Amino acid sequence: MVRDFERDDGGLRVVFGTGTLARLRDELDRLGGRRALVLSTPRRGELVSRVVAGLGGAAAGVFDGAVMHTPVEVTEAALARAAEAGADSVVSVGGGTTTGLGKAVAYRLGVPHVVLPTTYAGSEVTPVLGETAGGRKTTTTDPAIRPDTVIYDVSLTTGLPWPVTVASAVNSMAHAVEALYAPGRTGATDRMATESIAALATGLRQLATGSGEARAELLYGAYLAGLCLGAVGMGLHHKLCHTLGGSFGLPHAPLHTVVLPYAMDYNAPAAREAMRAVAGALGVADAPAGLQRFTRSLGGPADLAGLGFGEADVDRAAGLATERPYPNPRPVTRDGVADLLRRALTGQSIG
Ligand code: NAD
Repeated sequence: MVRDFERDDGGLRVVFGTGTLARLRDELDRLGGRRALVLSTPRRGELVSRVVAGLGGAAAGVFDGAVMHTPVEVTEAALARAAEAGADSVVSVGGGTTTGLGKAVAYRLGVPHVVLPTTYAGSEVTPVLGETAGGRKTTTTDPAIRPDTVIYDVSLTTGLPWPVTVASAVNSMAHAVEALYAPGRTGATDRMATESIAALATGLRQLATGSGEARAELLYGAYLAGLCLGAVGMGLHHKLCHTLGGSFGLPHAPLHTVVLPYAMDYNAPAAREAMRAVAGALGVADAPAGLQRFTRSLGGPADLAGLGFGEADVDRAAGLATERPYPNPRPVTRDGVADLLRRALTGQSIG
């Protein structure tokens, strides 16, 4: 069972539960916000209306044009809207796309930022901002980027469509998986990572069978995975998805869902202990093959071709993904990445 909680942790305040949207106005007040700009992706009118109502008069305006991978032109449009509305704070309601825009705006303006996450991306608890300009995605890390307050309200996530739910939960799992072989990991991050994977897998199984507190498990698992992502550096899987998302425009969470088992399979010979931990948390015999079968059994995307990536893109992607070295359990080579991409392109079965 997932318990409701509230905690202040090194400048990050987290409120977790069901119906916690009712706390929004008080939480904004704590930060001194009086006129919030509400951000979302397009067509999330119902969520936005609930948030505007929850702000009880403290909503200065709405910008509902957030776009995946935080293009700088969109940030500039949102900044113009903030100026026009006289906003002194930002409230983001949505997935990682909205949170990314909220981070970009609040960071540039130096104003408080409250996030109400409605997917399992985990960005709301990290000090990392990925932005795209001129077809390239760059990342900035600064403690000032991390939102001030995160209100997890399970009831905001119940309408998340099934395909988005599956992909987003596996995107979240990827943070926990890579945390288990990150050079900076600790006993605490290991435990958060395994608890996260177990909660996400339980949530998906429960949602598929209509049992238990599925959405609370998923949101709790996502919170823990986000903490892992913010605490330690990520390896091959995240670097590769960063390249494929930023330079080839592939959709973030489905991309993670396809690539993760292949990245795990690539790293497995050099990360046996981590793979045993993942397998145990997932309840499967072999982590890469078991995860691939699990996500496919839930109808998750199976190949990169289906996401718009082609054979002609493989060499350029492998080159971009290996431009700069980074820590990874197994050395990352251009040929190795090209081979991984070819397997993922056609959705070759693992194991
Ligand atoms: P997303 O925010 O684009 O959401 C996916 C889709 O689901 C969108 O169409 C959205 O409108 C819809 N949606 C969201 N909540 C909904 C709800 N409750 N009901 C119905 N529909 C809903 O996608 P995402 O996967 O959450 O986030 C991806 C972005 O987040 C990428 O840009 C990625 O780089 C970024 N990200 C950043 C970090 C970080 O730490 N900086 C971490 C993870 C992801």
